[in-house]
Amino acid sequence: MTDAHNHLQDSRFDGIREQVIREMTQSGVTRCVVNGTCPADWPQVAALARHHPELIIPSFGLHPWKKPTPDWLHQLTHYLDTVPHACIGECGLDRWIEGYNIERQTTIFTAQLDLAADRNLPISIHCLKAWGHLVDLLESRPLPDRGFLLHSYGGSADLVPRLAKLGAYFSFSGYFLHERKKNVRDAFKVVPRDRLLLETDAPDMLPPPSAIHHPLTGEINHPANLRSIFQSASLRVETVTIDENFHRFFID
Ligand SMILES: [Zn+2]
Repeated sequence: MTDAHNHLQDSRFDGIREQVIREMTQSGVTRCVVNGTCPADWPQVAALARHHPELIIPSFGLHPWKKPTPDWLHQLTHYLDTVPHACIGECGLDRWIEGYNIERQTTIFTAQLDLAADRNLPISIHCLKAWGHLVDLLESRPLPDRGFLLHSYGGSADLVPRLAKLGAYFSFSGYFLHERKKNVRDAFKVVPRDRLLLETDAPDMLPPPSAIHHPLTGEINHPANLRSIFQSASLRVETVTIDENFHRFFID
């Protein structure tokens, strides 16, 4: 099974990280993408991928919640040039976070999108409450030939065909199994089968108790919950299809 989006470098895993990775592997997770969020955590993402090259695909991005450093883009380019199989993300747009600055977010996001398009690299996009703006950007700029990932897709069902036409992949997160997320689950019913991916976003996006087979103390989502999330998700596809989609997007 493949996890399209997590944050194994997160400090909430300090002290238990290697055990968590062992449990992930034992539970059947064969590949995952570990997403950096700012220059400060990129070295840890690179180190994790170096220590677990079979399991971890590293991804480097500047998240819309994080402040840019003066040389972030230069550093990002350096990581992409030097780390094997490096992808771009997590990056994106967020009008949900308090005090957001959408102009600054747009500049930072489009720089990363342009890099992904130039190099035809996988890019993982976060979007909260900024769908119209994101679609405008995606429809007006060069995009990677391989497509792009909308991680934890929380947009409407109506937008799915328009985004799929642009090359979108959509990853389902265990958080969407909460009762109140019915609209999101409905949107996933219209996602084309060859564009569906699955993710934990661990340590975030804790699923409801019924989908937690690997509990951790302190509201931390264990990435080995991937299987129980899949079992609860009713995604109309087998894991083999999700794994094929993962390989086509992140590896081929
Ligand atoms: Zn994330």
